[in-house]
Amino acid sequence: MTVRVRFAPSPTGMFHVGGARSALQNWIFAKQQGGVFVLRIEDTDAARNRPEWTEGILSALDWIGIARGSYEGPYFQSSYAGEHRAAAQRLYEGGRAYYCDCTREDVQARTGPQQRGYDGFCRDRGLGPGEGRALRFRTPDEGETVVVDLVRGEPTFENKLIEDFVIARGDGSPVFLLANVVDDMSMGITHVIRAEEHLPNTPKQQLLWDALGVKPPIWAHVPVVVNEKRQKLSKRRDKVALEAYRDEGYLADAMRNYLMLLGWAPSGDREIVAWSVIEEEFRLDEVNPSPAFFDEKKLRAFNGDYIRALPVADFVEACRPWLTGTDTIAPPPWQPDEFDPAAFAAVAALAQTRIAVLSEIVPNVDFLFLADPLIDEAAWAKAMKEGAAELLDAAIVAFEALESWDAESLKATLEAVGAERGLKLGKAQAPVRVAVTGRTVGLPLFESLDVLGRDRTLTRLRAARVRLV
Ligand code: GLU
Repeated sequence: MTVRVRFAPSPTGMFHVGGARSALQNWIFAKQQGGVFVLRIEDTDAARNRPEWTEGILSALDWIGIARGSYEGPYFQSSYAGEHRAAAQRLYEGGRAYYCDCTREDVQARTGPQQRGYDGFCRDRGLGPGEGRALRFRTPDEGETVVVDLVRGEPTFENKLIEDFVIARGDGSPVFLLANVVDDMSMGITHVIRAEEHLPNTPKQQLLWDALGVKPPIWAHVPVVVNEKRQKLSKRRDKVALEAYRDEGYLADAMRNYLMLLGWAPSGDREIVAWSVIEEEFRLDEVNPSPAFFDEKKLRAFNGDYIRALPVADFVEACRPWLTGTDTIAPPPWQPDEFDPAAFAAVAALAQTRIAVLSEIVPNVDFLFLADPLIDEAAWAKAMKEGAAELLDAAIVAFEALESWDAESLKATLEAVGAERGLKLGKAQAPVRVAVTGRTVGLPLFESLDVLGRDRTLTRLRAARVRLV
């Protein structure tokens, strides 16, 4: 039997990091089993679907390493509405489902507001189909439904506690529970790997598989992803969109490695490992079922490690979208013709060790490309204290006299200028740095001045001096 798994996102506007994690787990499992990965877009909620959101899913998957063309699909759930209706009809005709005309108020009037679920009032009323009548599944009164789950063992549900749930609404449209089962069935899905939040649906879905006469799949409900307060990551509260991480400059390799650590770890005391190791070692039955903490700080540190591990040429290439802007990344503050690739290449290795996400490249190098540096006023106030004007005067004179404009000579010169005033190098650097780069922190100063060049450095020092008058 060929293993067939599916990733079945609903296009809801952004691609949740938890979804990306499930997609990767499906992807790896399929690969390990010599199986097939199917992408199915669950787009039946027409009001909440837009084609660009589907495109967003495809491109986010692509970014994370699940490339278009290397999987089956995308299929669209909305194309199978006929099959969903036919299955509902079959269940009705076989006596496994019945029509019900109760409103929520009717049910509550009978059961009281505390009781949850449907009371079975219409079970034996023999109602036929009709406008406003929902179709409910007749759950067995006895027995248990045992779910075989690779992550959770065998969660067992007593059938008598499962209400007669709706499978088609009053307008005849089948609900998610049924559509999802019918599609999995017709697509020959053997393993359903998805988020824990669907576990409560699973006994109902398994009953539908049984009622439709097909052996249910093996399930794997992977842990919910939570924030530092142990709350489920939510798009209203937390940064959950994979695209947001991508556009901030997380590397796809770092991101997918980190996502796979949510509830699982490779052998040994390792966290950062080659993707091939994860592909080889990952086991669903080793996934910890408890909620997995999505630690953004850790991810950031992780990403910094990945950035530092890049060959410099790859780092230069990886920075490009932030140096030019794209349709989702804001353009940098300089004009395209102000960008100087050679100057960037000259400082790239220095920047590479200092940033944790690629978007941070921009404030580190903007002084090289802008005609005038962007002055951070707080930094200016801090650095341009008493004595700054005299120090800048002396530095200008000393720099003008330099024969060779290189980092070492610049450093020795400013060191001497500072020493004459009883200042350590750090203190002497501050006004120069702010005058030239606009900031108090940044790339090593003398290498920066070297790359910026004599004329531009002196122009900026003089401009700062004028401002101090
Ligand atoms: N479309 C469902 C969701 O986005 C997934 C259902 C499933 O994986 O079975 O949550």
